[in-house]
Amino acid sequence: MLRFLGRGSAFSNENNCAFFVEEKTLVLLDCPMSAFAKLKEKNLAAYDRIVVLVTHTHGDHSSGIGMLVDYCYFVSKTPITVVVPCEAVCSDIRFLLRNLEGCNDAWYELLLAEDIHETWFRKAVPTTHSEELAGKCFGYVLSVKGQNVVYTGDSNTLDPFLPYLQAGTYLYTEISAGLSPVHIHVDAAKQKITELTNAGVKVFLMHMDDEEKIDKSMKGSGAVFAPLDGDKMDENGKLLNDIFSITDSLYKDMCMNDRKDHALLFSYLTDLGKTIVNADRASFWKWDKRKGVLWTMLATGVDKIEMPDNAGLVGKSLREKKTVITNDPYSDPDFNREIDMKTGYVTKSVLVMPIADINGNCIGALQLINKNDEKGFDEAEDTKKLSLAALVCGIALESETFLEESHHDKLTGLKNRMGFYFDFGGKFKEYLLPESGKTMSVFICDIDKFKRVNDTYGHNAGDDVLAFASHLVESTCTESDSVYRWGGEEFVMVMRDTDLEAAAQKAEAVRVKLESSDINADGNTIRCTMSFGCALFDPNKSIEENISVADGRLYIAKETGRNRVVKEDA
Ligand code: GH3
Ligand code: MG
Ligand code: MG
Repeated sequence: MLRFLGRGSAFSNENNCAFFVEEKTLVLLDCPMSAFAKLKEKNLAAYDRIVVLVTHTHGDHSSGIGMLVDYCYFVSKTPITVVVPCEAVCSDIRFLLRNLEGCNDAWYELLLAEDIHETWFRKAVPTTHSEELAGKCFGYVLSVKGQNVVYTGDSNTLDPFLPYLQAGTYLYTEISAGLSPVHIHVDAAKQKITELTNAGVKVFLMHMDDEEKIDKSMKGSGAVFAPLDGDKMDENGKLLNDIFSITDSLYKDMCMNDRKDHALLFSYLTDLGKTIVNADRASFWKWDKRKGVLWTMLATGVDKIEMPDNAGLVGKSLREKKTVITNDPYSDPDFNREIDMKTGYVTKSVLVMPIADINGNCIGALQLINKNDEKGFDEAEDTKKLSLAALVCGIALESETFLEESHHDKLTGLKNRMGFYFDFGGKFKEYLLPESGKTMSVFICDIDKFKRVNDTYGHNAGDDVLAFASHLVESTCTESDSVYRWGGEEFVMVMRDTDLEAAAQKAEAVRVKLESSDINADGNTIRCTMSFGCALFDPNKSIEENISVADGRLYIAKETGRNRVVKEDA
């Protein structure tokens, strides 16, 4: 509620001074010289009015008022009201401003607390502080943004304020580490303050002479230090710094370290989203419209999840093309509890933003989740903050989709030659370094007399045969193998940790299987065969040269009668 231009005591660099802004009125609680110096940095002309509530007249609290009156009159032209809690303080302040500071009475308004009629003002509460100022020391009860706020000013007791404290009240109390009869000593107050925080009072400590000592002594009390004006900036600064760290790592990994892993990009982007709104989890959903499914590109901490696109909050967000937020997911019929059941996670709030390609078509969604009751999502604030991350996600997903499609062949569903070069271009050599002791082999195969199939049964039948043969080759793939459609009716299989002999055996198995398969080709039952050329990868050769060795042997297979596997040069 209140923010502090300083929260120190008499002899520290920054004396106590709290403030809040209501409409366009800046309300200050006291105005020490250290606060005046900071106020000058603010644009005081932006306020319609400045009100200073005086707690007592010790110089560390009131010494900036004269300067502020001067400044408001001569520089910022802001009307200023000085509120005093009683007649005695009123005449002291009048004396100070008129006789010592030399301020003209017309430059400010001096108002008794009992005469102030503002919604944010409740009352001035007399308290005890220095004996010499007996009857002239006060705290205030306020209503800031509808919240009950109690500010003790300098006081050696909390007692006068207790009647105003209830659950939810913001109590700003002075506290002191040095033993003194005029202040509240930290050890003496700890128990009471702990009771108050347990009862739901939000306690903030101010007027501190030794923050380190007070911090130590008050551990476990539930009280926190009064927030300094710069703290908000620090939070934002910290957030910016976190964002920059993520984008810096992303940039380095993408541009400097030659990483070509798309999952890495999406992992950074989800992390970015998570950081921006301080969520517990983030996931990134890709929408496969053709298959009618949504699947996670990356769900931090969970395996890939696939679900129908008409389900869940992600489905809703994409269908309706709008951000979906729920802070009570278990009461939301669209919330998909199954994922929680799978992961053991209890979702408390969800935010889903649709993401679009550059044509404005929805192609996926960014989802943020909290498991903490306290944290809910704010539609206006959080979607604004996430907008840039969501845009970048859209562009990244679109280019990933393009890349993915350009690496795949539509007829067979296999990766194509571009996919092959993407997967292996330059990369296989490291894998085959002599010290790794690893081998890698390849076969290239080609359907025999395929042209005849087309010529005899038609192109559709040819397509069916191609799809059949490709699935047959693919069905022999293990985790260490990759298969590609190399060209028309040619396929390449790369086998890691496989020597030439084992590669040839695999090729032979495919050959035998195909030879004896009845293929349903556009209503015709036909058979066909394939020829194979095998080679062991040589790390001293380029990828093209290696394929060329296998291709040479495929040529030999064709030349020597087809439907055979060749693993040696002639
Ligand atoms: P060989 O045993 O020497 O390999 O003879 P072939 O007839 O298989 O070889 P050729 O290279 O003469 O013919 C290959 C044919 O494959 C020609 C081309 O029309 C056909 N083809 C290439 N891609 C496709 C495709 O996607 N679908 C269909 N139906 N045919 C294709
Ligand atoms: Mg052929
Ligand atoms: Mg061919």
